[in-house]
Amino acid sequence: MMTVIVGPMFSGKTTEMLRRLERYSLAGKDVVLIRPKVDTRPYLAHSKMEFDGDRLCCKDLNQMLDILDHYHVIGIDEGQMFPAIAPYITEASLAGKHIILSALNMTSEGKPFEQVSMAMHYADELIKLTAVCTVCGSEYATMSYYKGTQAKTGDLLVGGPDVYEARCFRCWQEGMKNPKKTKDEKIIFEETLKETALSVE
Ligand SMILES: [Zn+2]
Repeated sequence: MMTVIVGPMFSGKTTEMLRRLERYSLAGKDVVLIRPKVDTRPYLAHSKMEFDGDRLCCKDLNQMLDILDHYHVIGIDEGQMFPAIAPYITEASLAGKHIILSALNMTSEGKPFEQVSMAMHYADELIKLTAVCTVCGSEYATMSYYKGTQAKTGDLLVGGPDVYEARCFRCWQEGMKNPKKTKDEKIIFEETLKETALSVE
């Protein structure tokens, strides 16, 4: 069984995953939560919910197969940060585990995370959450907007409300046209719009 929870930053993905893990924990199941090592923010700093289970940090899920063997339910946070996550969770799900994956589905330039997209297709249950747009207040913010001043060179730059905010698609697109955006960010943004025919010009 595979549950995939996606959405932009500040949409409550981790909170929703923890709520689900908590339910299993209360039913006496062995529950574990895995977070990527690259995320050095304080543990679950962005969630107020307590987690009553085991917690692990790792870089490579394949190296953890033995450790994970005795857990019934495996929660994976920040799934976009793990390489080759889709085959791993598909296999674990087929082996009888319940995987709950929480992940960003897109970069702040609007580029889909390939492995997360794959996981979404194979999911038994797919939950897409939205945040509240920090610009217009829309309930349907689907995008993470990078507002940091440091040039963003890769898909992944770990940060919180100091460098990211949630925006609806329209406000995100307006923001991406800002001349302060770096050349790389603009190129990725324009290519994504072209590829996905999302332009609303
Ligand atoms: Zn908006």
